[in-house]
Amino acid sequence: MPTQRADAPSQGSPLAPEWLSVPTDLNALEPKMWARDAARNDAGELTLDGISVSDLQRQYGTPLFVMSENDFRSRARAFSDAFNNAFADICGGVDVYYAGKSFLCTAVVRWVEEEGLRLDTASGGELAVAAKAGIPGADVALHGNNKSDGEIHRALDMNLGRIVVDSLGELVRVGDIAERRGEQAKVMLRLTPGVHAHTHEFIATAHEDQKFGLSMAADTTEQAGLSAAEEAVAAAAAHPGIELLGLHCHIGSQIFEPDGFALAAEKLLRFLAAMQEKYSIILPELDLGGGYGIAYIPVDTPRPAAEIAEAMAAVVRSTCAELGIDSPRISIEPGRAIVGSTTFTLYEAGTTKTVRVDAPDASNASDGGNNVTYPRRYVSVDGGMSDNARPVLYDADYSAILASRTSDAAPQLSRVVGKHCESGDIVVRDVYLPEDVAAGDLLAVPGTGAYCWALSSNYNYLARPGVVAVRDGSARLIVRGETEEDLLNRDMGV
Ligand SMILES: *Cc1c(COP(=O)(O)O)cnc(C)c1O
Repeated sequence: MPTQRADAPSQGSPLAPEWLSVPTDLNALEPKMWARDAARNDAGELTLDGISVSDLQRQYGTPLFVMSENDFRSRARAFSDAFNNAFADICGGVDVYYAGKSFLCTAVVRWVEEEGLRLDTASGGELAVAAKAGIPGADVALHGNNKSDGEIHRALDMNLGRIVVDSLGELVRVGDIAERRGEQAKVMLRLTPGVHAHTHEFIATAHEDQKFGLSMAADTTEQAGLSAAEEAVAAAAAHPGIELLGLHCHIGSQIFEPDGFALAAEKLLRFLAAMQEKYSIILPELDLGGGYGIAYIPVDTPRPAAEIAEAMAAVVRSTCAELGIDSPRISIEPGRAIVGSTTFTLYEAGTTKTVRVDAPDASNASDGGNNVTYPRRYVSVDGGMSDNARPVLYDADYSAILASRTSDAAPQLSRVVGKHCESGDIVVRDVYLPEDVAAGDLLAVPGTGAYCWALSSNYNYLARPGVVAVRDGSARLIVRGETEEDLLNRDMGV
C-alpha cells in the first residue's frame, strides 16, 4: 500500500509547480490579473462594475466572456499616453494600432477609434469587421504572410493606411494590382531582425527559421551580400504601384522586458538609415510591433507601459543621434496588453474528482524509496479548449477563483478542466481552490480577453460563448453566444 498524504495546507502540494504558492486568502483578487472594476460584493460574489456573476449567469448563461469596457478603454489610453509622452520629443508621438486578432468585434473597433487608436487586421474577415464598424480605412493596417488577391483588392478598396508586406513575391503582387487599378498601395515591409523575445530573456540570431517576414541577414538572396530585406526595399522603391512608407517588425508575444524591443528598434533604425542613404529615399515610418505581456498568474511581472516606452524611446533617440537621421514616425501594435486583462471567463463547475499522484515524499527527504501519493482535484467546467485553446496550444498557464461565493475551506491543489473528449482539455493546469468547490459553483478565469474568444472552436459541437461588455453598471452582449441552430446552420443535410 503506498502511503497516502494530504496536502499540508500552508506548505502546498508537492504536485504544484514551483511558481505556485498557497494564497494567503483564496477569496482575494490579485489586482494585476483582473479588470480594475472587478471586486467582491458584500455577499462575497465576484462582480464587474457592480454586476454580480450570478446575475450574469441568469441573463446570459455560461460559459461567458465578461469584459470591462472601461478597463479596455483605459488600457488603450494608457498605452497611447505612455508612448506618446515618451516619444513626443523624438517623432512627435506614436501611432498605436490595436492588434485586432487578439479580440475583434465592431464594438471594440469603435472603442479603439474613440480612444484615438488605430486598428491592425490580418485577413479579409477582420477587414470586414473594420468596415462594418465604420473606422476610416486610413486608420487600418493589413498584415498576413499569405494575402489573397481578393484581400489586397479589399485593402485598396478601403483605402487602407498601410499594407504590411511579408515577402518579395507579395510586394510585386500588391504593386501590380495597385498599378493596374491606377493607384499606389501604401506599404510597410515586415522584416525579421533576428531578435526573439521570450518572457524573461531574448535571443538574437542571424537567420530566421519561421514563415514571417523578410530576412535582414546578408546571405538570404541569390546575390552575394544582399539581404532579402534590402532586395525588397529596392524593388518597392522602383515599383510604380508602391508607396513605400517604411519598415515593420514584430518580435514575439507575452514579453515582459523592454530589452528585446529596444534591440529590434536599433537594428531596424540602422537598416533604415543605410537604405535611405543607398537608395536616396526617405522611409517616414517604423513599426515596432506588439507583444507586451500581461499577468496570467501571480508570478507574472508585466512592466508598466511607460517603462517600456521610455526604454524604447531612449534607444530610438540615441540611435538616431548616432546615425545623424531624423527619427521616423514610430508605431506599435499591442493586442494582449490592451484586451487581455479586461476579461474573465465565467464557467459553472460540474463533475469533480480527486486522483492520487505519485511524488517524492515532501515530509521526509530521506524517505526517497517510498511510494507516496498526493491528491489532485479535477474540477470540470461547462466549456474548455473550445473557448480557451491557449493551454493546449502553448502550455499557457491561467488562474481561477471561486466566483459565486467566498469560502473558508482549506486550499486544495486543483486542475480546472473542460468537457471535451480530450484528456489534454485543461483550462487551468494548477491552482489552489477551496476544497468545498462543488457542482453549481461558478468559477472565473481572469486574463481571457486576448486569443481566447478569437481562437474559439465548435469542437464536440459546443456553441461558442457570447461576450458581454460591462460599463457603468450595465451589461450588454457585444457578441451573442451561438445557439444550437447556429451549430446546425451550415449542415447541408444531403
Ligand atoms: C499578433 C501580433 C501583434 C499583437 O501581439 P500581442 O502579443 O497581442 O501584443 C502585433 N503585431 C503583429 C504583426 C502580430 O502578428
